Amino acid sequence: MKYIGAHVSASGGVENAPLNAAAIGAKAFALFTKNQRQWTAAPLSKSSISKFKQNCEAAGFLAKHILPHDSYLINLGHPNDENLEKSRASFLGEMQRCEELGLSLLNFHPGSSLKEISTEECLKRIAESINITLNKTHGVCAVIENTAGQGSNVGNKFEELKFIIDLVEDKSRVGICIDTCHALAAGYDLTSEKAVKETLDQFGQIIGFEYLKGMHINDSKKGVGSHVDRHESIGKGAIGDEPFRILMNDPRLDEIPLILETPDESLWPEEIKKLYGFIE
Ligand SMILES: [Zn+2]
Ligand SMILES: [Zn+2]
Repeated sequence: MKYIGAHVSASGGVENAPLNAAAIGAKAFALFTKNQRQWTAAPLSKSSISKFKQNCEAAGFLAKHILPHDSYLINLGHPNDENLEKSRASFLGEMQRCEELGLSLLNFHPGSSLKEISTEECLKRIAESINITLNKTHGVCAVIENTAGQGSNVGNKFEELKFIIDLVEDKSRVGICIDTCHALAAGYDLTSEKAVKETLDQFGQIIGFEYLKGMHINDSKKGVGSHVDRHESIGKGAIGDEPFRILMNDPRLDEIPLILETPDESLWPEEIKKLYGFIE
């Protein structure tokens, strides 16, 4: 079964996210558990936590179909030790918020070398950041998102993501989220049936589908290998409708959250309907 949804607003409190998701016909959703452009946030209130759980239960959302995203400020591979510590502290806070909400996944961008350290050194720092955080928390899986390889962001190649996983001590609590726009921008072709199958097969060979915990379903404004991260509405970009039809019929994508991060949120109800309509 496919669990399709979108990254919905949590404005006014995290408890609103499941309501916003249900209202657009989503069976999965993503959210920020705090303002994604700030380092700190007030702790979640008891009432907010219990309402979030109630609203999820009422709408039938299970933890494994909810994919919270961390703050954009966090860089778990930061070359500077002081800044790295700040990112690690903030990431720990994000994980703890997920724990409090009864969630089991936390999606994040691996990090950036800022061209001050090698890609390998950056990947090692990211793995160490994950190990430190997992040791201080319980039950939440660290879900690394592939990047477009824009600027000095690491983690656009499947091999780099595998390199991080190999260094994580608790393999049961590390996973991957493939963003289709980022994958295309990173050079993984998704523009035909053959290309989609080949890209997914490559993921299976290099990383393994046991690590695939979610996907971001986005079309891309730019073409294959552009290294530019610009999301587009489904069917309106370089990927087009047909590859999404192939993806929606691939059983390797069953049971995980498939999350729209497309730019025009007024289209989300339509896009969710369209993606479900692709399933044969
Ligand atoms: Zn992301
Ligand atoms: Zn994404």
